[in-house]
Amino acid sequence: MIRIAIDGPGGAGKSSVAKAVSKALGIIYVDTGALYRNIGLYMLDSGIDPKNREAVIPALSDIKIEMSFRDGRQVILLNGRDRGDEIRTPEASMAASSVSAIPEVRDFLLDLQRSTAKKNSVVMDGRDIGTVILPDAEVKIFLTASSKARAERRFKELRAKGSNVTFEQVYSEMVERDKNDSTRAVAPCVKAKDATLVDNSKLTEAETVQKILKIVKKKTKDTTHLYQVLKVIVGPIYRLLFNVRVKGKENIPREGGVLLCPNHLAAVDVITVGVASPRQITCIAKKELFSIPLLGGMIKALGAVKIDRGGADVGAIKAAVSAIENGRTVVIFPQGHRCPGVNLESTEIRHGAGFISYHAKCDVIPVCINVKKGKYGIFRKTEIIFGAPIRYSSLGFNRGGRDEYAAATKKVFDEIITLGTEFRSLPDYDPSKDRIKNKKRKR
Ligand code: C5P
Repeated sequence: MIRIAIDGPGGAGKSSVAKAVSKALGIIYVDTGALYRNIGLYMLDSGIDPKNREAVIPALSDIKIEMSFRDGRQVILLNGRDRGDEIRTPEASMAASSVSAIPEVRDFLLDLQRSTAKKNSVVMDGRDIGTVILPDAEVKIFLTASSKARAERRFKELRAKGSNVTFEQVYSEMVERDKNDSTRAVAPCVKAKDATLVDNSKLTEAETVQKILKIVKKKTKDTTHLYQVLKVIVGPIYRLLFNVRVKGKENIPREGGVLLCPNHLAAVDVITVGVASPRQITCIAKKELFSIPLLGGMIKALGAVKIDRGGADVGAIKAAVSAIENGRTVVIFPQGHRCPGVNLESTEIRHGAGFISYHAKCDVIPVCINVKKGKYGIFRKTEIIFGAPIRYSSLGFNRGGRDEYAAATKKVFDEIITLGTEFRSLPDYDPSKDRIKNKKRKR
């Protein structure tokens, strides 16, 4: 799953560049300006001054705006109607610029933009994508050009469409719109701190696209570099500190997508699996973990997919499925949250693992993690066993559905319990020190 935010002033060529980038990457292009244009157009149609906040706000309740993608092309329905090129006139542009300065209008369109990027890999262009809509986007670009160069492009575009505007008109409108967009109180069009600035005053469209594709490649490659650093430097230190002992590495296939399902004792379990796994993992981690200073950076480097545990995070699950389809090793904790000191036999499990396996049609590897306090209660010992793969065909799927996902997840978890029993038969197992077995479940 990749989200690419392209922000910048009007006329910088964002939409054509973003479209070409999305095509090259095989992902969808979301033109957010078209949403504001539709709202602006609605106000003009209804005889409402787009600058009149008191009149615009109540009118929003009469608007239903829907966005879908047909063959990769964005379709916006304003109260059930696709307004096509009507939203591209200079009047609609000015109306869009005016309504977009009203915070209630921005709020009105926020969820639609975010939910689209949650469900799909996107190239999304606008003014505040990197700063407000997708502050966690993997790639952020601020695309700009001199106002003269931008006005010239817009002028040619409008002339080609048969308009008889003059260059002076286009230029002065552009300057006014720039001023509106960059000085407004809410979501002004400014470069996000972590965005890459691309000035294309002297670049052709094709050159701009190539430049952005290069940035995307570099940004996505950085994660892999960081992973290698983690593996070579942090990995050995972590193994030593936490006394990590690994069994069953050979059960992880060398290639092809697969799902790893460990029991969950502590936040560092993700790192334990990452350090023990012979292949780079992609973990699904709750979004709060990403903001923990060191851990957040590490799980990000390990290619984590963010999950919002508040609700069914369809986007994250879809991302996990597509990662497996792309041959990656994905990790999900069937328990859904940390259950330290809990007897595995009595733990509650969720059905996400079954869901992902069903949709990705992949085998699942049960993984058991056991942490024991060592001598004097301080020298911790971490043991991890990768079990034999449970084949997709033996997970009992028929037509999918919650019950099947739950049953498949239970089957996987039963294997984790069996692996836990194996721990107990290891020579240095001391039942009196087994936190998993002895402690009462805490929540
Ligand atoms: O990008 P486009 O020129 O189609 O956008 C039309 C207007 O919508 C812009 O002038 C800007 O005021 C507003 N807009 C915005 N935030 C976005 C996209 C567009 O405020 N994300």
